[in-house]
Amino acid sequence: MRPSVLVVGEAVHGQLSGPSREALNVARSLAGSEGRVTGLLIGHGLAAASAEMATLGTDRVRVVEDAALTSATCSTLAAIVRAEVEGAQVSVVLLTGSVRYRELAGRLAARWDASVATGATELSPTEGGGLRVARPVFGGRATEELDLGGPRCVVALRPHAFPPASTTAPAAPVERRASPPFPTGNAPAPKVSALESTEVTGGPSLGDATIVVSGGRGLRAPENFRLVEELAASLGAAVGASRAVTDAGWRPGSYQVGQTGRSVAPQLYVAVGISGAIQHVVGMVSSRVIVAINSDAQAPIFRVADYGIVGDLFAIVPALTKEIRKVRGLS
Ligand SMILES: Cc1cc2nc3c(=O)[nH]c(=O)nc-3n(C[C@H](O)[C@H](O)[C@H](O)COP(=O)(O)OP(=O)(O)OC[C@H]3O[C@@H](n4cnc5c(N)ncnc54)[C@H](O)[C@@H]3O)c2cc1C
Repeated sequence: MRPSVLVVGEAVHGQLSGPSREALNVARSLAGSEGRVTGLLIGHGLAAASAEMATLGTDRVRVVEDAALTSATCSTLAAIVRAEVEGAQVSVVLLTGSVRYRELAGRLAARWDASVATGATELSPTEGGGLRVARPVFGGRATEELDLGGPRCVVALRPHAFPPASTTAPAAPVERRASPPFPTGNAPAPKVSALESTEVTGGPSLGDATIVVSGGRGLRAPENFRLVEELAASLGAAVGASRAVTDAGWRPGSYQVGQTGRSVAPQLYVAVGISGAIQHVVGMVSSRVIVAINSDAQAPIFRVADYGIVGDLFAIVPALTKEIRKVRGLS
């Protein structure tokens, strides 16, 4: 029997995130035509995101909306999701792989007494009502296979590991659910007094982007980082950085890609003046195509690059940006 799946989606600036669309696709293939796919959105300003979710292969969409939920803790989110899965005959909950939702995965599994895995790149139902999950480990050098016991499983997916769901018609019904008071369990609820975003505004977010251009210490000075930003803008890409850059304060920590930063897996990753230390590589090695620009032909980044340009980034990057802008018809 196919499982019924609940997808907890995320909205970014009011729009359904790319990884949420991917999770809906996985949900539909797990559920087949027998199981039911429920989309769930929690937060504020969710009209556009819920309308889109209703057209992406869902059987129904539920929205828990309240301005106070913008700064909800993971404990509150877990309590809300738990309340939604109870009575909905759901056996699998799928989450996007954002930092927040990876934390949510663990909290929800503990509350719901479910098996849990994060970073999944392959998923299939098992005979016993559980799931077989594969995920890359050791910076993508090996693949780990896990058998999650049923009847309840929570899985956070790796972003960009799956294609997005296709549009279906007619749209599923969207149901608005009563929200507060938010149950938080017995633990004293921490209070979030402010949320500050240091994401680049105007471009795609790092976790969501299909193209990422990252800069490293090879740029020599903070003012030169604009070369990376201009190349990214010409490609419609998000901007990332090595830790050398964020430690030096050239760009905020939210830009950092790597072991102690963000893990990204875009279609295209361009590394500009980055040596390719293992701690950086583990955060980007799952990218589909990697392009490296570095003046040192022996730089370790070339070991993981699909295309390498050996040369001075100060000559190459402006020329590349100019050419891309010309080809794309940008003024
Ligand atoms: C516990 C731990 C965790 C870490 N976590 C992370 C992490 O999450 N992310 C991360 O990035 N790092 C991390 N690091 C740091 C990591 O080890 C490296 O120090 C860091 O990635 C180096 O950054 P970089 O490649 O920008 O600088 P460098 O290693 O200094 O490399 C600069 C590169 O620029 C090239 N270059 C110089 N001039 C030019 C030019 N004109 N044109 C073209 N190329 C040029 C050089 O050849 C060189 O390869 C971590 C380290 C530790 C110990």
